[in-house]
Amino acid sequence: DLLVIGSANADLVIGVDRRPGPGETVLGSDLAVHPGGKGANQAVAAARLGARTALLARVGDDAHGRLLLDAQRAAGVDTVGVLVGGAPTGVALITVDPSGDNSIVVSPGANGKLTPGDVRAAGSLFHASRVVSAQLEIPLETVVEAVRNLAPGTRFVLNPSPPRPLPAEVLAACDPLIVNEHEAKAILGDVPVGGGAADWARILLARGPRSVVVTLGAQGALVASARGVDLVPAVRVDAVDTTGAGDAFTAALAWRLGQGDALADAAAYAVRVGAAAVTRAGAQEAYPTREEVAAL
Ligand code: ADP
Repeated sequence: DLLVIGSANADLVIGVDRRPGPGETVLGSDLAVHPGGKGANQAVAAARLGARTALLARVGDDAHGRLLLDAQRAAGVDTVGVLVGGAPTGVALITVDPSGDNSIVVSPGANGKLTPGDVRAAGSLFHASRVVSAQLEIPLETVVEAVRNLAPGTRFVLNPSPPRPLPAEVLAACDPLIVNEHEAKAILGDVPVGGGAADWARILLARGPRSVVVTLGAQGALVASARGVDLVPAVRVDAVDTTGAGDAFTAALAWRLGQGDALADAAAYAVRVGAAAVTRAGAQEAYPTREEVAAL
């Protein structure tokens, strides 16, 4: 039902008392290695909810690639589209200081080698999907090719992260474009945006997408389409770790849209999934099952 096209990274996390300066070495905690990357996160989140999900991604022929493949398979994701080789698996080197602030260096590795040709070769996955969901941790031309390969009637969902200018062809395909506040501001660029998120949503909508969703963390999300702009309030929870909340939200929304939900209803479900995801530490490890969402 859902095809996710995107990145797969190993997140290598070390806790530090403080970050090293140039030429300096500091000692940190034991290393923790987690499966991550926006594409891999979304696929696991959707599969945990019960969605029939496939991932189109590229990992290296190495231990990190096997970790990522194992995590996808354990969640029930179809990994026939996870290509192996061409470069080392993408890695995020993350240091976390005692106040919880992250410093992150990303090596895209194999994610940068997911090509338009890989998209064309995955035609059967496209035909089997009601919704295709992408992000921007892979080459932009690969996302453009994905838009061109959508089967008739297949819906396209994009979270433009990390944000960069988008061709009109991609914007016009988005239904919805999903951004958090940071991504919204980055894409609006030097447009003077007074007012609040509802204004950003309207301006983004005027750039061509069929619909726009702005996620607002603990406030919930705004949905904007030709019918107007509506707030979908968040669910109140004790947030422990918001890592990967946006990926869980996007996956849930994309899946529900494919099941025939209206945008507002899909967003209401996604807000519950996002809330459940922030109540536990980690990203993929924290994603809820359908039963856990129902119990929230
Ligand atoms: P991102 O992770 O991309 O920055 P957000 O922080 O906006 O995205 O989170 C995505 C969604 O997850 C929100 O729209 C909301 O539904 C849910 N969420 C995030 N943080 C919280 C929170 N503290 N309490 C409840 N829900 C949250």
